[in-house]
Amino acid sequence: ASPVSDKRRLEVRLMPYGDRQLLLIARDITRIRQLEGMRKEFVANVSHELKTPLTVLQGYLEMMQGMAEPDSLQARPLALMEQQTKRMQSMVEQLLALSRIEDASDISLEHTVNMGQMMQILKDEAEALAQGQYELSFHCETGLNTHGNELQLRSACSNLISNAIRYTEPGGKISVSWRSVANGARFSVTDSGEGIAPQHISRLTERFYRVDSARSRATGGSGLGLAIVKHALSHHHSELAISSELGKGSTFSFVIPTHLLEHADSKRA
Ligand code: ADP
Repeated sequence: ASPVSDKRRLEVRLMPYGDRQLLLIARDITRIRQLEGMRKEFVANVSHELKTPLTVLQGYLEMMQGMAEPDSLQARPLALMEQQTKRMQSMVEQLLALSRIEDASDISLEHTVNMGQMMQILKDEAEALAQGQYELSFHCETGLNTHGNELQLRSACSNLISNAIRYTEPGGKISVSWRSVANGARFSVTDSGEGIAPQHISRLTERFYRVDSARSRATGGSGLGLAIVKHALSHHHSELAISSELGKGSTFSFVIPTHLLEHADSKRA
């Protein structure tokens, strides 16, 4: 075979071929990776550049709203403009979060994440979002911690919980749990919400994929949340599992493998 320069990237796959043979497939993915890199850089730069003008717009809109009489002709358009500016700001934040998380594949998994503390933070956040309109239940197995990146894990869990609230009508039930299972520890969020039709499930973690964009827009969604979750989980050797029934609700979960776990008791011993 001809020598391959350091800069070229090859994707190599080994597959069974018949009973006793193996097939090696090598694909040059240099160009694909280059284009991917350009796309990521472009998205990160544009999002970053949009932040300042949006903050200025938001500031002036708030000021103008303060000056307008509540029943005046201007009040409604100003409120709508402020709402839309906030939406753009949150999309820009999500885009930046996604590019940060896509880039951080070599994160250190050495730190211990105290899951008891994290679950408490998630619970406080969920209560603030739910505003007393949902039945929330949280269960956290004591002393069951993991190695990993706290910010990424928290962002994954908090995206799943906020989705459960946003896609469930008030009065619904949301249960969150973190407990041991045979191959590791499982974090799961179950809601009694609208559910998802089977044909959409495999595509939900694609960027900007939304089952019903009008509904998602109304709930303040950007279609980026689950893409962020997918990347954060893959850095922790885990992946998102989704099960759902239309009209009944959904469960979003992931398992952190045993080799990343740390039991508080075993550490003390
Ligand atoms: P969005 O910002 O639109 O919520 P996400 O990437 O977080 O984007 O989710 C993608 C889509 O998956 C959503 O638009 C919604 O259609 C669907 N979805 C996510 N979570 C739930 C849930 N708990 N129940 C029903 N549908 C959901």
